[in-house]
Amino acid sequence: MILYRLRCSNGHEFDSWFKDSKAYVRQEKKSLIGCPACGDSKVARAIMAPRIGKKSGAVEVEAPVAAPAPTAEQQQAQQQMAALARHMPKELREALIKVRAEVEKNCEHVGDRFAEEARKIHYGESTKRGIYGETSDEEAEALAEEGIEFGRLPWLPRGN
Ligand SMILES: [Zn+2]
Repeated sequence: MILYRLRCSNGHEFDSWFKDSKAYVRQEKKSLIGCPACGDSKVARAIMAPRIGKKSGAVEVEAPVAAPAPTAEQQQAQQQMAALARHMPKELREALIKVRAEVEKNCEHVGDRFAEEARKIHYGESTKRGIYGETSDEEAEALAEEGIEFGRLPWLPRGN
């Protein structure tokens, strides 16, 4: 069986199954295919919309959380974060530590595979779940461009 998207001369598009492409050609020649909307039998194959990312409404992603990558490159940033944390209002610091604890308790740590996993979940290739891990600024930007939801948190050093 083969599924074709067809379009009648009035512009209605509809999907129809055929045994094979020959069966379609035969039925089309004999004007045996009628538009379900207007009954028009002048139909032609329409271009199938490419499957872009998620099927409409089928995939719902819980916003995973990305933390800054603790790479050598970003160690300076982490030190800055530690300095920032020292000057942060106590409440804010406690809130961030609480969020971190919640994330660690409820989400799966995927480390530096964060971007890969977030993508898989988004496109329904992986089980929907909360994940957290590290990703680079570049990857985070790419994910955002693909419409993948995630949050970023300053990952405060423990015991600070
Ligand atoms: Zn029609």
